[in-house]
Amino acid sequence: MNQTWLLPLQQALERLDRSVTFFYRDDDAGWDTPALLRLLDLFDDLQLPIDLAVIPKAITPELAAILNTRLVQYHNLIGLHQHGYAHVNHQTVGRKCEFGEMRQFDQQLHDIVAGKEILHDYFGNRIDPIFTPPWNRCSQTTLDVLNTLPFTVLSRAEKATPFSLNQMVEISIHIDWLKRTHGERWSHEQVIRLIAEKILMNSSIGIMLHHQGMDQEDLIAFKQFARLIERHPNIRHKRMRDLTDQIESAMR
Ligand SMILES: [Zn+2]
Repeated sequence: MNQTWLLPLQQALERLDRSVTFFYRDDDAGWDTPALLRLLDLFDDLQLPIDLAVIPKAITPELAAILNTRLVQYHNLIGLHQHGYAHVNHQTVGRKCEFGEMRQFDQQLHDIVAGKEILHDYFGNRIDPIFTPPWNRCSQTTLDVLNTLPFTVLSRAEKATPFSLNQMVEISIHIDWLKRTHGERWSHEQVIRLIAEKILMNSSIGIMLHHQGMDQEDLIAFKQFARLIERHPNIRHKRMRDLTDQIESAMR
């Protein structure tokens, strides 16, 4: 693949004189395991950390066994956390949401606890105390529920409706690698332009991936992007859990 599409990023990197930390959140682990494994192989090849948002109701014993093996092999490079419960829409109006206004406190509590127990059964305390709501959407009630449980981080998209976080911190994603506008997929160059803009503004940048939507061309493009930024002395990569440590020590 010709790499002129990476030029805006190259130019931003040339101007970068402070450190920027990247993290990668891949959603919907539990669906399309062959595609998930292709993405994990790529991250292994690149030696980059990845955070998997796992759908509790979709996980199978087979996938849990595979992930547990990989956790042992690449412990510091793979993070696992909870992605809703069943990834179903409960809204009868408006945008899709599993933890939206249609769900009361007790219903949300039930689903989040049930999901947490499934993940604990499969992965024990390897699960990070992070909650990513499906479609990056939830309600203040979700925060109220999470605050009663041992969760410390909510992850949604930047510019999501602000909520009262209480004990929680929020780690937002800034870039959707598979972004669409009016149903039309952005080109890799459009995505890279946005990353280049963020690099000059942010100290951390979260990239959301969806393995099941990434074809071979996406994987190659991602690899070229990752190889370009990893050469820069000011670019760091972290798991979300380690970003949290950074946020928490800054707050202390
Ligand atoms: Zn999802």
